[in-house]
Amino acid sequence: MVTIGELYANVKSMLKKVDIDTYRFESKCIMEHAFKIELPRLLLNADSAAPDEIVKFVHSMVNKRSTGYPLQYILGEWEFYGLPFKVGEGVLIPRPDTETIIDTVLKKYNADKNSSPRIADLCSGSGCIAVTLKKEIPDAHVTAIEVSDTALEYLRENAELNGADIEIIKGDVLDESLAEKLEQFDIIVSNPPYLSKNDMDNLQTEVSFEPQSALDGGQDGLEYYRKMTSIWKNKIKPGGLFFYEIGIGQGEEVKEIFLENGFENTEFSRDTADIIRIVSAYRKQED
Ligand code: GLN
Repeated sequence: MVTIGELYANVKSMLKKVDIDTYRFESKCIMEHAFKIELPRLLLNADSAAPDEIVKFVHSMVNKRSTGYPLQYILGEWEFYGLPFKVGEGVLIPRPDTETIIDTVLKKYNADKNSSPRIADLCSGSGCIAVTLKKEIPDAHVTAIEVSDTALEYLRENAELNGADIEIIKGDVLDESLAEKLEQFDIIVSNPPYLSKNDMDNLQTEVSFEPQSALDGGQDGLEYYRKMTSIWKNKIKPGGLFFYEIGIGQGEEVKEIFLENGFENTEFSRDTADIIRIVSAYRKQED
């Protein structure tokens, strides 16, 4: 017999033993996921016996996590900008860094105020950006484009889960014929794959379980910025805005790519760790 309190203590010590820095937080998540109740309330019954099936379930989660498998995939759901998103193998996990793109779009959108903007999210993945923008700007028409069938399933589920009425298109953002078919947008946003060959060779264990296609940005990590900017630049209305999430240290190069493609007034925005995370630019009024 193991009590709930003992089980919780075991989870913490097992995760700590495998050097998971956030073991306290993760133990809380695992316990709450297994018992379907908030930890402080659960621990009011710390001396009660934990049901066998739950003990087994908790141990299976801890064992999986101990191999470096991401907590988010184990839980199957993760929060982004205060909203729930279903996640699992085959879809990139929404990251807090990416919330910066939402804040930046909202800041600029409120400054420029354009009613019912047409927004496209390229490489939409779980849909965290597209869905959140639709929730924040309800009168926007949001189009999410994603190529992976697995990611598309999550995207659809997440739009429905959050009651976000967005348009979802299966397609490759590097396919010029796809861009040609669509009308112009006021705003394009994207968190494309941006890791370099060197980053890909040295992935953190957790990240190595995520889809390579969502991470690999070619030799220098900038392949998608080069190709997407050139393919999509005419799909932004003159005076419209393009926002990219970028990797650490890619700011100057992505700014240069924007300038070479007829954009102006580029701006950097920083994430909560004070790292330049977003580059935005306006399409010139006439070029
Ligand atoms: N932010 C991710 C990471 O650091 C990379 C995501 C991406 O390439 N867009 O692992």
